[in-house]
Amino acid sequence: MDPRNLPDVTEITPSAGVERACHGWRAKCLQRLVRMHLPVPRSFAIPSESVQSIATGKRVDLGALSELFAEGDGLVSVRPSALMPEWGGPGTILNVGINDRTHDRLARRIGKENADTLYRRFVQGYAIHIARLDPDMFAQEGEDALAEALRSYREETDEDFPQDPATQLAEVLRSMARAWDGPTARLLRQAKGAPPDAPLGLVVQQMALGLGPGLCGSGSIQFVDSVTGTPRITGRFRRQHHGGTQGADAQTQFLTRDERGPSLEDTAPEVFADLIRFGVAARERLREEMQIEFVVVDGQVSVIDATRVQRSSRAGIRIAVALARDGIIPESEAVMRVEPRALADLLHRQVDPRAPREVIARGINASPGAATGRIVFTAAAAQAAAARDEACILVRRETVPEDVRGMHASVGVLTERGGTTSHAAVIARGMGLPCIVGATGISIDARQRTLRAGATTLLEGDEITIDGSTGEVLAGRVPLLEPALDDNFTQLLDWADAAGGISVRANADTPEDARTARRFNAQGIGLCRTEHMFFDADRLPAMREMIFADKPEDRRLALDRILPMQRQDFTALFEIMAGLPVTIRLFDPPLHEFLPHDREGLRELADSMDLPLSDVTRRVEALSEFNPMLGMRGVRLGITVPEIYDMQARAIFEATVDASRKGDPVVPEIMIPLVSAMREVELVKNRIDAVAAEVRNDRRTDFAYRLGVMVETPRACLRAGDIAAHSAFLSFGTNDLTQMTYGLSRDDAGRFMGTYVGQGVYAEDPFHCLDQDGVGELLLTGAQRARAQHPGITISVCGEHGGNPESIGFCHDAGFDYVSCSPFRVPVARLAAAHAAL
Ligand code: PEP
Ligand code: MG
Repeated sequence: MDPRNLPDVTEITPSAGVERACHGWRAKCLQRLVRMHLPVPRSFAIPSESVQSIATGKRVDLGALSELFAEGDGLVSVRPSALMPEWGGPGTILNVGINDRTHDRLARRIGKENADTLYRRFVQGYAIHIARLDPDMFAQEGEDALAEALRSYREETDEDFPQDPATQLAEVLRSMARAWDGPTARLLRQAKGAPPDAPLGLVVQQMALGLGPGLCGSGSIQFVDSVTGTPRITGRFRRQHHGGTQGADAQTQFLTRDERGPSLEDTAPEVFADLIRFGVAARERLREEMQIEFVVVDGQVSVIDATRVQRSSRAGIRIAVALARDGIIPESEAVMRVEPRALADLLHRQVDPRAPREVIARGINASPGAATGRIVFTAAAAQAAAARDEACILVRRETVPEDVRGMHASVGVLTERGGTTSHAAVIARGMGLPCIVGATGISIDARQRTLRAGATTLLEGDEITIDGSTGEVLAGRVPLLEPALDDNFTQLLDWADAAGGISVRANADTPEDARTARRFNAQGIGLCRTEHMFFDADRLPAMREMIFADKPEDRRLALDRILPMQRQDFTALFEIMAGLPVTIRLFDPPLHEFLPHDREGLRELADSMDLPLSDVTRRVEALSEFNPMLGMRGVRLGITVPEIYDMQARAIFEATVDASRKGDPVVPEIMIPLVSAMREVELVKNRIDAVAAEVRNDRRTDFAYRLGVMVETPRACLRAGDIAAHSAFLSFGTNDLTQMTYGLSRDDAGRFMGTYVGQGVYAEDPFHCLDQDGVGELLLTGAQRARAQHPGITISVCGEHGGNPESIGFCHDAGFDYVSCSPFRVPVARLAAAHAAL
């Protein structure tokens, strides 16, 4: 429909040309209610073109509306009708048309006091919001307040209060049309995703006054709980109430039977039955859970409006699944109705949305979920608290491997520094632990054991709540909702999987991670970071000794110690994954994450290696790097000290033989990290092939394996053709690739990321959401060159972006084979994959 040909005003009848695009959602929704023959008072829609004309003072023909002033009580309401409900709009204005004459008539029907209150409220609202007079002059209440309000109006404007209903209506419409164009309204709706020139329609409706003889009042009803989504009738009914602010003698009633007081169900069962009937019909025809606004006049119900029920994430899922199970919407639509991110809210505890929040600091929302605990500043204090069965939040400037045991003992982690892919963030996500990093507004004094956040100073042992879903640190204990991994969650994801989107694997380093991955139906392990298998206190020394050793015999001893640990690790993973693919990445230990940082750590290492402290200190200094993220990492370690990867390859192959003997045959996938040149791959491949031959020979059995490359340097993307020649698969490590493409440190970017995103330098944190223009181009180039060389090659993404819905859409569109993400993000990724496919 061409908006220029629309009538200035359209009565909302079953057959009228009311279009959401022109008249807004509310007008369209009212038309649906009218088509269902619900008792909706006469309503008219003004399209956005006409509203625009009204705002700019152009002539608009509102003649049709004057009929409303001649019917019923002669009053109308005006409501906004934007394209989307969440874009809001100017507040509803009730009782337009009231004047001395209607006041007298109303006084006879509903009583003088009620009529006075309605008239006074309208005059006051009109004076303040439409004539823009000083609110202090219109604060009267009580006896004579109406006369005073009318007098004040006259004094302030030198005119009588407008008595012509059409004049009142024209002024109300003009004021609402202009309010929509104001800068605050514009900013508010833009924050909800509205374009700057979002259109506004208006709805003018005959008033049904819930005042007068018989059962009268107004209320709202909904049929599901907004927080849980379970069927439950909630709402309220206010007797002798016309829908505006509470009248003096209005009395609130429960809708359903309630021991706390009389309910509508008891006192007016036929009204209650009507409401149920209307609710059922609205759900079926509008294909949505609706909240219905109604007015009762002398026992007769009018439906004046219906809006989509406000809902939490968990309620949203339950509602979508129930609508599909009841055959009201198709299953694929239920899948599309749930935002993938909403699933994260169900996997972890959440701050109850009804609870008050006192935010004392903010940071990056690095791992979702909420937790309340006592502040501890060291891993040891966290372990001590856990031993006392006390929930604690580990607060650190940033975390180091020694803190991992403290993280295990905590219910949440808060760090002053760091970004989305820094140590604390990656580990916490892997553990499903709520985490906030880069909370630059806090300052930690570990010696004094204090945490300052703005004007608040907190001591060790004080309670805080962290909300890792929003990045907010809250004062004290806040009510939390438990995770809701119920049948609805499982059902929705089963429907999502049926959509056939890109497959989803998990980044899993431990048997526990692998079990979580299975529980969430991951299609395999896409990244096992083997160095993470050594974070536990009893394992860390072995890893340190291996890195630290500079004599071949010392290294041999360290590797001999590690080999059985790794064999056992891999056997466990293969067994848990029961035939699903498992991609094991050879060691990629950034040295600063594994060498001791303080004297105590150095002494511990000296003890465990039985060496003088001075030797250990000298060696650690020799190994220290200015830029460890670009230093002796990944394949560089494998090329420089090849025995290390030999040991890992042997452990993988021996585990393959052991696990295949017991269960499903295993074809391990071995991945080489941080490659930048084809020759690196050749060198590692030759040695791994040799180890495979040795194990086949030693164990007198055959097995297959797949060797692949982790593409995480820009050069590896550009040379992906060469690299693919030797690889069964390529997996993009988009964390390092983002770091290197931007020249942006993963560990330090948190310090300025907020400013950069705030000022629009980056649309989003590129460690969080894949930079499709830059890093994405490298991904596409790499994939295209790899496929040209090796058409059947498997291509995937295993950086943190593998769990980000927009990035998953990109990978799907690029035709990649799978994404891999932290186990707790697998459900989000499965739903995002379905959204990309549908
Ligand atoms: C990556 O760089 O994207 C990756 C997955 O590896 P890591 O985070 O361990 O460096
Ligand atoms: Mg990496």
